[in-house]
Amino acid sequence: MLDQFEEAGLGWFWATDASGRISYLSASAARQLGKSQEEVVGLQISAFFLPDKDGDGDRTERPLAFQLRAKNSIFELPVRIAIADSEIWWSINARPQTDANGDFLGYRGSAKDVTAVRESQLDASRMAQYDSLTGLANRHRMTKRLTSTLAAYQTSKRSCALMMLDLDRFKQVNDTLGHPAGDELLKQVSQRLERIIAGRGEIGRVGGDEFQVMLPDIDDRGRLGEIAHSVIQMISQPYSLDGSRAIIGTSVGIAIAPYDGLETDELVSSADLALYAAKGGGRGQYRFFSSELKDGARLRRQIEEDLRDAILTDQLEVHYQPIVRAADNLATGMEALVRWNHPERGFISPADFIPVAEETNLINAVGEWVLRRACEEATQWPEKLRVAVNVSAIQFASTDLPKLVRSALERTGLEPERLELEITESVFLGDPQGTRAMLKNLKKLGVRLALDDFGTGYSSLGYLSSAPLDKIKIDRSFVVGATDDDSNNAAIITAIVSLAKALKMESVAEGVEAMDELKLLRELGASHIQGWIFSKALSQDELLARIADGGLKFEPSGPAVHRADRRSMYRKVGVIHEDHRYEVVIRNLSKTGAGIEGLLDVPLGTRLVLDLGDGQLVVANVTRSEGYAQGLKFEDSLISDGSDGLCTRHRISPYALAAAGMPLAALPPGHYIPPHQEGGPRKAPAFMQVDMAKTSRAA
Ligand code: C2E
Ligand code: MG
Ligand code: MG
Repeated sequence: MLDQFEEAGLGWFWATDASGRISYLSASAARQLGKSQEEVVGLQISAFFLPDKDGDGDRTERPLAFQLRAKNSIFELPVRIAIADSEIWWSINARPQTDANGDFLGYRGSAKDVTAVRESQLDASRMAQYDSLTGLANRHRMTKRLTSTLAAYQTSKRSCALMMLDLDRFKQVNDTLGHPAGDELLKQVSQRLERIIAGRGEIGRVGGDEFQVMLPDIDDRGRLGEIAHSVIQMISQPYSLDGSRAIIGTSVGIAIAPYDGLETDELVSSADLALYAAKGGGRGQYRFFSSELKDGARLRRQIEEDLRDAILTDQLEVHYQPIVRAADNLATGMEALVRWNHPERGFISPADFIPVAEETNLINAVGEWVLRRACEEATQWPEKLRVAVNVSAIQFASTDLPKLVRSALERTGLEPERLELEITESVFLGDPQGTRAMLKNLKKLGVRLALDDFGTGYSSLGYLSSAPLDKIKIDRSFVVGATDDDSNNAAIITAIVSLAKALKMESVAEGVEAMDELKLLRELGASHIQGWIFSKALSQDELLARIADGGLKFEPSGPAVHRADRRSMYRKVGVIHEDHRYEVVIRNLSKTGAGIEGLLDVPLGTRLVLDLGDGQLVVANVTRSEGYAQGLKFEDSLISDGSDGLCTRHRISPYALAAAGMPLAALPPGHYIPPHQEGGPRKAPAFMQVDMAKTSRAA
């Protein structure tokens, strides 16, 4: 029986002498090793087995040689054997043999070939680690890799960036073109990602349309911004899916260890918050984590809770901003802009709560309320005056929208021709057919359609010519700066205006504030103007009074020239000079310099360090100095934080802070004094600090 058992390869037997030399091995086992039974006798058994390797990272066995030397019993120990160019695995059992005196005689044991079993185990573990659709790492593997990388990097003081991506509009493609097309899209997205990342890091698909990229040893936010930018660019190129064309976008959040988190959980949640902020800032953006985002998250939860009540308890109002005809300053319509008067917080900007409403589906309730209220109030206006109502892309995706619009018109008796719906370009993404059908259904009701914020989204001229639009609204971002000599905004506006003319649409310039802007936009041929130059949004009462008073004619009034976009601000920051730290107020900030106030008589050419908070230090030279105000030029330019903010490329490293005695942790918010240089007595402060609060009061 034993012979048959051996011959069938079901199991083998082996024995060694006290020095580990083989004294017996089943013939079929010897054959697998490429030898005859006689040849193997006398050879060291451990010589056949390769040193144990840390195969897939999670299984470390004590090597066979060690067990043998220790004369241990061996139970199902997997060992690796190399023959020719392949590798096989045996599982080994053995028991040490002793004589009557207890002296070791050698081993007797059994073995069996487990190569096939191991391979299928490996497959299973590969499946458990990789996403079968795209071949990218799955969430499980990404978490494991992050955790081991971060742990190792902490000891070697290295940094590691994490990018989180979320596809915009993937769901629409999936819903309208079907799941096979959705799958194909995900595959193409992963291929594009692999091409961009190209070995710089590991990519994982961690959810339906969520991806993660781990980028070891990059902490330069300038470089990370460039990578994120090209990721967004590449992913936003059109896809061809089995004959259909689809366009999606992506938002990217970036966090960097050790600055934004030491451990996996912390880093992932920082990157998540950054991603969230990127999505909130309009689609197709990237964003770095900053400690402010944490406060933002708290505020958002609050808004979400309170907004439900706001609708029920009448805290919302609609205000109306005139849209004025460029030719004669007559208002032809009013844009309905929702206002929220929060009982404790006061006025909350729609720019803050509309995005929250969109995420929580409250937008349908808010949108319906605004639509009904605006239609109702418009019936009290002169008949020529239209009302424009913003329709969120989420509302637009709901098949109930035409029904809702019809009901609002019927209930209030407003002429359909007097209602204009403002949609944004984002409705054209994902599902062009569905969008076209929806636009047609809305047009059938007799309402007008305007394309809002034109030029900010994934602009494609293709849909403009085919969509039944009556109006294009040129986004304020083009109007701002159009009067600057070195800006090409004027050329862009000219192009949009002539496009609108060719397509027999009106063109509205949004956000006109200054006289020179108004003049320029008239010259460029915009048919309508909307902006503070004519009026801010008015309450219904103010509007009715205004109309009774001056009719529909609005006179422009505002600053003569638009002031260059210097971000003026009143943020407190630190200035470090020699070994002293001062508090100053920052008045304006650009990539290359800043204006500060608070230090008296600083000589030109003084070298200072500006502490912008959260570990961001900038070396600067004083290039202008007048009393308590200085102009600074930075030695290294700031970079974009992905939205409209600025940040430094590098920050103080938590490793350096730890070396100076602080516990190792991600950078908490606030200011840091850089590790103090030892040696020498402290000098007296070189400058006098002025209390800016008192100065401005005196002024
Ligand atoms: P929008 O539709 O592009 O509206 C124009 C925004 O520009 C309004 O901001 C308006 O107050 C502002 N604006 C107008 N003229 C000027 C100007 O000369 N200078 C500057 N700096 N700003 C000007 P508002 O009211 O804060 O609304 C922000 C955005 O919130 C709107 O942008 C719109 O996208 C959204 N929104 C407002 N009301 C609603 C609503 O009822 N439903 C939906 N879905 N979105 C709304
Ligand atoms: Mg609008
Ligand atoms: Mg707009």
